[in-house]
Amino acid sequence: MKIDISLYQRIVILTGAGVSAASGLRTYRGPNGLWNDDDVQAYGHVDRLQDDPQKIWRVFGPLREQILHAEPNTAHLFLAKLDANLQPSQEFLLITQNVDGLHQQAGSRRVVELHGTIGRTRCANPDCILPPYPDPDPHLETVPYCSVCGSVLRPDIVLFGESLPVDASWQSKRALRDCDLFIAIGTSGTVSPAAQYVRSAEYAGARTVFVNLEAMTPPNPAFQELYLGAAEDVLPVLFDPNQKLRLLKMIDVSRNITVCNESKKI
Ligand SMILES: [Zn+2]
Repeated sequence: MKIDISLYQRIVILTGAGVSAASGLRTYRGPNGLWNDDDVQAYGHVDRLQDDPQKIWRVFGPLREQILHAEPNTAHLFLAKLDANLQPSQEFLLITQNVDGLHQQAGSRRVVELHGTIGRTRCANPDCILPPYPDPDPHLETVPYCSVCGSVLRPDIVLFGESLPVDASWQSKRALRDCDLFIAIGTSGTVSPAAQYVRSAEYAGARTVFVNLEAMTPPNPAFQELYLGAAEDVLPVLFDPNQKLRLLKMIDVSRNITVCNESKKI
């Protein structure tokens, strides 16, 4: 089932690491990551701000260096164009778990960054007046300190052990409350936040769509439709009425059918 975006008034899209994979970004965890899971959780924990802030920069500094050279891919550009071409009456929010800033670099304007942005630095002191600022330095060798209050400076991302930013959470929940189309792209559909968000969208009566390279195990029944493939391949086909769904494996959960293209059921 194609998505005719003109039929929807309140659209919410959630993106995860799968959207940035085609931009060549290695994640900082996982099998091909820069760190193993145990180290990244220990070194990237908020408690290190107190006892060893250099560890935080050693984990996240290399990610910052990678992202400096990354470019938005077809999926980022597609979502930016989708946003730009909506009617003024249509509400839209792109919620991302990614910290790479590539949605904004592609031109997306209505973006909520759930986990912050790795390319910005901010003061660790919540009462400090220093605003977050773009910073290309990975600070791998020396911990930087705030010029205003002398506290440690940190990457402007959510560290392990920290809560999501209140404003980002609030904006996301508000948009989900009355959305009529929710699409999760390149993220796990079975864990937070996608698993929670899709339940909110389902409760609001929205059409719920999952796009990812791999299927969910177990499937989350709150998603009505699943499209399997790389985001940059699936998105242009899914929204284009003139292209057949031949690239896609589509699972219509509500009717319990799997469709490989528009005509063939398996
Ligand atoms: Zn400060």
